[in-house]
Amino acid sequence: MKGLWQRLKESVVHLCFPTKCLYCEERLPPTDLVLCSSCASLLELIDVSERCSTCFNPLPNPHRLICQRCSHYPSHYFRIGAAFNYEHLPSALVKQLKYGNHPALSKGMAAFLVAQLHRLNWPLPDAIVPVPMSFIRRLDRGYNQSLLLAQEMGKMLNRPVWELLKRRSGDFSQAALNFEQRSKLEGHSFKLRQSPSIQDKVLLVVDDVMTTGSTLERCAEVLREGSPSTLYALTFCRTLLND
Ligand SMILES: [Zn+2]
Ligand SMILES: [Zn+2]
Repeated sequence: MKGLWQRLKESVVHLCFPTKCLYCEERLPPTDLVLCSSCASLLELIDVSERCSTCFNPLPNPHRLICQRCSHYPSHYFRIGAAFNYEHLPSALVKQLKYGNHPALSKGMAAFLVAQLHRLNWPLPDAIVPVPMSFIRRLDRGYNQSLLLAQEMGKMLNRPVWELLKRRSGDFSQAALNFEQRSKLEGHSFKLRQSPSIQDKVLLVVDDVMTTGSTLERCAEVLREGSPSTLYALTFCRTLLND
């Protein structure tokens, strides 16, 4: 396992292009590295035993399996997980992938998602489903980072990627909205493609970041229309929820 872990770590470090570390901006030797060795050593996956087995919120009491939030507001997912907290280096990688026009980062980042999937001990899904991006935003960025992560994971796990969800029209920045406002807007913003059939399938929904979880929940509500057997969600980063 150590060997695999080391190789996965190296895959995010060895990517191609910049001459400066993406995080601390230290000059790199003329190789294909994206992170300097001290930054690369900071990448540690979240310890899954310290998290709620359903929503992945930190557990105040390690003897409980489910957090208080989950006992009050059950999720549409059987399990939700993440590779890292949204802070420091992992959040910088997400921003570089999203706004820095570095789509090649998705390969190394997906390796961490795969490593965390193994640590979570979830079954391999029948298909991987990326959270969709609006047409306008995709046109602007040129790619959907969640789709790239899903595709790289699909190659590593030998599983198909199904773009089952479609954003309806409209594009809005959600940063200024609260959980309820987001939920209301997003409740109307996804629709399910009719094929392939997802009846009785195990699906893994993939996104770059989970913030309030409302986007993932809305995706799940729409996926439920196709009667899948089980839904899992995995994100590269997640912010900590405020109850
Ligand atoms: Zn560095
Ligand atoms: Zn929970």
